[in-house]
Amino acid sequence: MNTVSLITGASRGIGRGIALELARLGWDLVVDYARNEAAARQSAADCVAAAKAAGHDIRAEVCQGDVSIAAQRQKLIDFTREKFDRLDLLVNNAGVAPQVRADILEAGEESFDRLININVKGPYFLTQLAAKWMIEQAGAHSGASRSSLFEAGDHGRSGTRPYRPRIVTISSISAYAASVNRGDYCIAKAALSMITPLFAARLAEYGINVYEIRPGIIATEMTGPVKEKYDKLIGEGLTPIQRWGRPYKDHLRQWQHFGVVRIQSDALPYADHTIDLDPHHRDRSGLGLPVVRITYDLRENERRLSNWMEAKSEAILRAMGATKTWLGPSFTGVASSHDFGACRMGSDPATSVVDPELRVHDTPGLYVLGGATFPSCPGINPTLTMWAICYRAAERLVARLRTGEEK
Ligand SMILES: Cc1cc2nc3c(=O)[nH]c(=O)nc-3n(C[C@H](O)[C@H](O)[C@H](O)COP(=O)(O)OP(=O)(O)OC[C@H]3O[C@@H](n4cnc5c(N)ncnc54)[C@H](O)[C@@H]3O)c2cc1C
Repeated sequence: MNTVSLITGASRGIGRGIALELARLGWDLVVDYARNEAAARQSAADCVAAAKAAGHDIRAEVCQGDVSIAAQRQKLIDFTREKFDRLDLLVNNAGVAPQVRADILEAGEESFDRLININVKGPYFLTQLAAKWMIEQAGAHSGASRSSLFEAGDHGRSGTRPYRPRIVTISSISAYAASVNRGDYCIAKAALSMITPLFAARLAEYGINVYEIRPGIIATEMTGPVKEKYDKLIGEGLTPIQRWGRPYKDHLRQWQHFGVVRIQSDALPYADHTIDLDPHHRDRSGLGLPVVRITYDLRENERRLSNWMEAKSEAILRAMGATKTWLGPSFTGVASSHDFGACRMGSDPATSVVDPELRVHDTPGLYVLGGATFPSCPGINPTLTMWAICYRAAERLVARLRTGEEK
């Protein structure tokens, strides 16, 4: 048995978007609508198709129910009980905007009552009905005392999905942002917002989690009539990100889906890799300062390592679900981010510049701290090793200064 969600106002807009996403996750659905049956049936059909495409077999049942009417709220719950005998998630999404926007100095009571009825009273009492049924279900699943029902969500009924009831209310940015030409809407959404803390506090002991989502300016049929107005306001900087909100997953789907594995092979310390002053070139400052010449390239060892790691990386990306992989340019010696050397560390002054305490062999009091002291280029990130070597050198220096061995 699938988990079951009742979504109010799921024939269009955000409700429809939520229904589609839940369908893709394998939820059974009750698609509530107030007036537009054809749109609700289309939503339900689209949900079943979306679930199928995602590899799930779901049921999406359509039920007419105006949440502002008590009998119809009860009908929604009864319908869900009859069709699925289970409710895991109530999404209080249905809501309306004022039919006419009016300045708060002029606005009348009719629109106010309408918005309070549909946007507040409806979800408040529907939540009450759903919550009571959820408590009942949680009790049936746990068979335990009221206080231990908290655990019910994690155990579930035998043979079915675990029972973790949730209630989500979709309020609005208008719960806190004042719009003086639709005070009724703002007040209704502010009141709607209180449903979540109230029921969250009341239902916590039953393990029923209650959430609120406050969408900003979302492109739906509801905001269609004011599109031009908000295009302009958004363009003028109303929102920090200057665009309409759209279903989030649609937004994510449009993102690029590249993953990059960047690798670099270890390089052995070849004796003929050198650094000296370039005999031919000078810097371009106009002062004619000498510039360094780096003689370095990848050898057979490094190339073979590289090839091996490239193949491994490709296999890893494929295992992670990559459908297409390709190779970018390979590091070719100089000018990677891990070029080291020139003041190699070693105990033999004939083949190294600094000793293990980073003292320059033939120049007392001179130290080289940093990547220059590495004899070769490590494939992995070098900085922590570098820190460790420098830290050790500093510790030893402090010790010698203390004993007077060094002044
Ligand atoms: C793009 C990039 C990404 C990297 N990512 C990582 C990573 O994720 N993890 C990791 O461990 N390592 C990483 N590295 C490598 C790491 O940054 C270096 O290995 C490390 O910073 C080298 O330390 P250093 O002290 O030897 O040299 P630097 O950090 O280069 O320090 C040399 C200092 O000398 C100064 N200097 C140069 N010439 C003069 C001058 N004439 N007079 C005075 N000052 C001068 C410079 O301004 C600089 O402050 C990355 C390197 C790059 C370039």
